[in-house]
Amino acid sequence: MGRISWCPGCGNFAILRAFEKASQRVIKEGYDIAISSGIGCHGKISDYLNLPSFHVIHGRVPPFLTGLKLANPNLIVVGFSGDGDGLNEGVEHFVHAARRNTDITIILHNNGVFGLTTGQVTATSPKGWKSKSTPYGNPEYPINACQLMLASGATFVARVFAGEQKRMVEVFYRAMKHKGFSFVEVLQPCVSFNNFWDLRKEVFWVEKAESVYEAMRKCEDVRACGIFYTEEKETYEDVVWRSMF
Ligand code: SF4
Repeated sequence: MGRISWCPGCGNFAILRAFEKASQRVIKEGYDIAISSGIGCHGKISDYLNLPSFHVIHGRVPPFLTGLKLANPNLIVVGFSGDGDGLNEGVEHFVHAARRNTDITIILHNNGVFGLTTGQVTATSPKGWKSKSTPYGNPEYPINACQLMLASGATFVARVFAGEQKRMVEVFYRAMKHKGFSFVEVLQPCVSFNNFWDLRKEVFWVEKAESVYEAMRKCEDVRACGIFYTEEKETYEDVVWRSMF
């Protein structure tokens, strides 16, 4: 494990701690876990967790984990990605992994900014936001990550705030135990370039929806947190293995 190089106060610390707790619970139940992360500040998490880990290139966490899961269906595989890594460089891989219902868990560290490269807008930055790359204001509308994943066919979609440790542990645990494509968006303050710890006063928890359409409405407000939707559906690996043997 490497020395932690995140800025003091970064929301990534809370994600790391919550995932340690959730993964220990899963391991105690007898499962093996392997993880992968992409490029960006979040990507260092592969160095900080004492698990088999693979640090891959920009946006390629889903295809890498798809191969890993196909090769060893007994593994629980978890990918970490950032909003830039996953929704700028890698958005097509996320969409295809979700529509295939690949049995992987993705945890998206959404801080709304490219932190590692010191403060440019990403696909989730708010319209009008002034950053280093948009001194006159961001001209683009943001992607709502949960809505995108719901529309793509993900069978477990949730959002949590990095300041809510207990909820994060529970959601991570349930996402890992879900059979199918699980997506957890974590609202992760970047203290250096997009500090929104104050959002804690505004986030609210919603109950699970009965349909994808209801879930889409529930997660429209980016302050809404909860497990928005779950569904049991045949996974990509089940179909592939059945067709081979
Ligand atoms: Fe965290 Fe932002 Fe620092 Fe990166 S730049 S380590 S996201 S606070």
